[in-house]
Amino acid sequence: MSAALILIVEDEPTIAGAISRRLAAEGYRIQTVGDGLDAVSAAASLLPDLVLLDVMLPGIDGLEVCRRVQADRPVPVMMLTARDDETDKLIGLGVGADDYMTKPFSMRELVARIKALLRRVERAKELGTPTADDPAIVTGDLVIDRASRRVTRSGQEVHLTPTEFDLLVFLAESPHAVLTREKLLEHVWDWSETSVTRTVDSHIKAIRRKLGADLIRTVHGVGYAFEPLREDEPGE
Ligand code: CA
Repeated sequence: MSAALILIVEDEPTIAGAISRRLAAEGYRIQTVGDGLDAVSAAASLLPDLVLLDVMLPGIDGLEVCRRVQADRPVPVMMLTARDDETDKLIGLGVGADDYMTKPFSMRELVARIKALLRRVERAKELGTPTADDPAIVTGDLVIDRASRRVTRSGQEVHLTPTEFDLLVFLAESPHAVLTREKLLEHVWDWSETSVTRTVDSHIKAIRRKLGADLIRTVHGVGYAFEPLREDEPGE
């Protein structure tokens, strides 16, 4: 298997250079662009395994790049933000990035998170092979097909990012159980940092926006629980 290809989208040459040297030293294949529109076309032509995406970019910003890149095909995106409040804003918007890092960050942590994200995508690919012993989760008008990794609500297919799908399945496999953000991070994201639990909130928000607000209950200060639907409770 050839090394994973990482597309670095960063307009500050010093940062782009430092990240790219470090990731190349880790054995990844690297491509760097410094502009939003170039990022969209590079993602389409190079089919990277992961996109490392700065938010503030010339041309179109990282948010729009994330939307356009993920509209084409599901590719994991890690967003780089300049400040914590910028991260908050993005999380509020539920843009669909798989993970967020606020500058300045340690290269060691960046590498650890990239590795975790790529491992997760690899695992999802393996799981994506349909098997008979992986039955769909059906509740009310919601169908979560674990074998084909497809979700429908009221018969309509809903496109979830790989992270959103994994998070939904993990919650739905334990109906009514309250799962802490830490537990969700550990299981779904494959790492156990407790500092970035807002990443979980961002994905819950995106799932609710796509599938309806009635599926996942917030337990304030603790975490989230999946609530099965009854037949008489159609969504939307
Ligand atoms: Ca920038």
